[in-house]
Amino acid sequence: MDTGQCVHCGLCLSSCPTYVTTGLESESPRGRVFLLERIYEDPSLLNRHAAKALDDCLDCRACEAACPAHVPTGHLIEAWRAQTAKSEFPELQPESFGIFRKVSRPLQWFFGSPRGLKWFQRLVRLSKKPTMGSWLTRIKWMPARVEGMALGLPNTIPKRLSRFYRPKGGSEFAQQVMLFVGCVMDTVYADTNRHTVDLLSLGQVQTVIPKNQRCCGALHIHGGQPEVARQWARENIDAFESSGASRIIVTAAGCSAMLKEYRDLFDLDDPFRERAERFQNAVIDVTALLPDLPLPDIEKPKQQVMVSVHDPCHLAHAQGIKPEIRQILDKTGYSICEMTDSDRCCGAAGIYNLTHPEMAQELLARKVSTVPQQAQWVAAANPGCLLHIQSGLKEQSRTPRAIHPVDLVWMAYQAHGFWSD
Ligand code: SF4
Ligand code: SF4
Repeated sequence: MDTGQCVHCGLCLSSCPTYVTTGLESESPRGRVFLLERIYEDPSLLNRHAAKALDDCLDCRACEAACPAHVPTGHLIEAWRAQTAKSEFPELQPESFGIFRKVSRPLQWFFGSPRGLKWFQRLVRLSKKPTMGSWLTRIKWMPARVEGMALGLPNTIPKRLSRFYRPKGGSEFAQQVMLFVGCVMDTVYADTNRHTVDLLSLGQVQTVIPKNQRCCGALHIHGGQPEVARQWARENIDAFESSGASRIIVTAAGCSAMLKEYRDLFDLDDPFRERAERFQNAVIDVTALLPDLPLPDIEKPKQQVMVSVHDPCHLAHAQGIKPEIRQILDKTGYSICEMTDSDRCCGAAGIYNLTHPEMAQELLARKVSTVPQQAQWVAAANPGCLLHIQSGLKEQSRTPRAIHPVDLVWMAYQAHGFWSD
């Protein structure tokens, strides 16, 4: 991959969360691109400091949005991780990598495979049982980072969305779409998926939920396992192609960003490339679709409900979706109070909050401190951000709750009597 596009202008520096936090050039996009350039020229320059600086990248892609030369820093980092995972750099000793490489594979299995996810669901449900929950948090050896994540979980874990779910609103349909249910969305935030189907139905759109869908593969791409992501892309393309609907709706920003780049997983001569391109062109994040749906107009509530919007990196930087969320919240009667740097990474970044707890906590503290005092809700359209920000709000005893914008829109219609629960 080409690192030579960088003109070292430094326009990306202020957008990079790790640079802003540390002030170190090696922890900046420009520094990382330079490091990669030198290492590809002369692999003997690779040492554990360079390996750490490259592994510390959140892959948030804020630098890409700021870069006038269109340097694909996120993809460069992903390619680097894939190469080092395959030991293409014999100069690298295993001890050169920190906790990131040691735990990322098991965590990718946990969150990204059906069996791992089943275990995750069991643990999540267990941790929500009152007696078991307090018992779990008292375990001395329970890592603080996992405890922090548990703190962000909702009080009740909903049932997974059934493929045969009958939506609450609407009955006449002008079009049909498919829903990508996601892994953590389908485990922890299944109600958001349910609310999405209700809102689509209210907007005259019928939802089909294809069976045999898999994890999008984002965690694996970020962690240097493109071959796993490629396999799951093939399975997803097979699963969704057979349903026949023309659009694929996604409720997690990290997943929609990944699904929109499926084509790049396949070589030019790979027969799946054309199918992957058709698939990715059909993908749309729910936050981009909602403002265009013919949803009924509703009045603003008598008492203002204040919402502050956090823009997930993979929605704002990777897909350029920002005003749409404010638009649909405004249409459904909410008042927006903006936080500073709403598109600055909160530190969740896939499993980064588990592999890099110190940096993740620092970014989280900064994020929570920017939530305006008058905010009653913090809207975030990505499950990782929701869990992380909610844990930070609780840790700092702040009253607002983190919530997916779909849930806010659904609640606005519920308050106007569109559905009864
Ligand atoms: S990555 Fe882009 S913005 Fe950053 S220094 Fe290089 S050219 Fe400039
Ligand atoms: S992807 Fe994010 S953390 Fe990585 S260099 Fe770019 S701005 Fe910094």
